[in-house]
Amino acid sequence: MRLSALDCAHIPKPRLTPKMRVRGTMLLALLLAAILPAGSANEKKITVYSGISNYSLPVTDRNSLEYVGLLEVIEPLGRNVNSRTDGLRWKLHFNDGDAEFTAGKSRAKVRGRDVDLPGNFLLESGRGLVPLTSLGTLLPRLLGTSITFNPGSRRLFVGNVATHFTAQLSRTTPPRLVMNFSAPVNPTIATEPGRLRMSFNREPVVAPGTPTLTFDDAAIPSAVFSENNGAAEIAVNGTAPLMASFSNDGRTITIAPAPQQMSAPSAPAGVPGTAPATPSAANPSSAAAPGVRHFFAVVDASHGGDDRGAALSDKLAEKDVTLALARRLRQELESRGMSTLVLRDSDVNLSFDQRAIFTNTAHPAIYIALHAASDGKGVRLYTAMIPAGGENNGPFVAWDTAQTHFLPVSQIAAQGVASELARRQIQVRTLVAPVRPLNNLIAAAIAVEVAPPGTDVMDLNLPAYQQNVVSAVANGLLAVRDRLGVPQ
Ligand SMILES: [Zn+2]
Repeated sequence: MRLSALDCAHIPKPRLTPKMRVRGTMLLALLLAAILPAGSANEKKITVYSGISNYSLPVTDRNSLEYVGLLEVIEPLGRNVNSRTDGLRWKLHFNDGDAEFTAGKSRAKVRGRDVDLPGNFLLESGRGLVPLTSLGTLLPRLLGTSITFNPGSRRLFVGNVATHFTAQLSRTTPPRLVMNFSAPVNPTIATEPGRLRMSFNREPVVAPGTPTLTFDDAAIPSAVFSENNGAAEIAVNGTAPLMASFSNDGRTITIAPAPQQMSAPSAPAGVPGTAPATPSAANPSSAAAPGVRHFFAVVDASHGGDDRGAALSDKLAEKDVTLALARRLRQELESRGMSTLVLRDSDVNLSFDQRAIFTNTAHPAIYIALHAASDGKGVRLYTAMIPAGGENNGPFVAWDTAQTHFLPVSQIAAQGVASELARRQIQVRTLVAPVRPLNNLIAAAIAVEVAPPGTDVMDLNLPAYQQNVVSAVANGLLAVRDRLGVPQ
């Protein structure tokens, strides 16, 4: 299919709708969250949820008790909050009330009344530390509002702020677990064999009636709610690799088995995946080595299934040519020591989003989409054209401009391939176009569109021509491989 033509299916309509973009952004945010190291995961912390903000604070051990800085806990909750040290005394002011603590003493005075702490108050460099478990007594008096505090999980709810959820299995084929939340959520998703885990680090998600939900379903038998160290988690147990998708502005999460066609038979370690861990009994090696196997290259045979691509001739569909090219390219890359995953290794439907998600979770150094066209001669190489107006601020990368930071390495890849094609006297042009899913990829990414060598379109099917093109692509990538993978 000619990518540069206006009627080409690969050229997106002018803009994504805001809703699509939000969903895409969330998907990518999830992926990134899953990818980024947990950092302070082992530090003890308490999370405070309130109508004003949700925040986590460090918890420290003193005299075999857990302590927390009291000013830090209440400061975000009031308008006029401060403390001052006077010798051994520490005076705290919150809105219209006062409290007084004494270093080394367990008795304090809050709004004129005595309160006994379960351990001594500590004063460290002007910072007042109270035993964690005393918050359940101190805060209602100090704040004048009701709180719910679970010291075991270190989660503190100020007022009525909890987010509730329901989980319902819909017995479709395949089954889907639909979870509805009373407020938008944005959990971190991780997988391990037989389980998809959603961690809620900032959302006040609370347990349903019972922490374990059972669904009487072979594919998704149960889900378990738990909370620990200032966070909540929902683990969904599955006998097949599971995938999570978001809708309803983050209020609905649907868990379903990942489409089986995603598991490329060529990949011995099974599906690369965020979402899909690979506990499948049919593929025991994946249970031993779940999660992400790193491939140097992801080769995407464009189109497939109902999408035949361009009708190159009566007998020749683009989707078949791209698959043949993809398999040959994999062989060429692997023979040069570049491990390769073919995204579509059979005649199945794959959406652009699915292709992008699986590529991003496989962390390749290079993504290559293969297309075929009847018009023109030789090879056209595309890198992404980023739509204007996309925002990449803060931790969230906009879905339709995710490629932005990788454009320089994508262009290096295209130049490497172009040089090698030219060296073999295969006509080549390098172009920029808004080709999906290039815009959504967080890796060097190019699209290779192969047209016939001469005037006969059937020559696209010639093994020698296909082989010459893919071997040029492989050589070209080999020449620049050390410069790929790091955005500049
Ligand atoms: Zn195409």
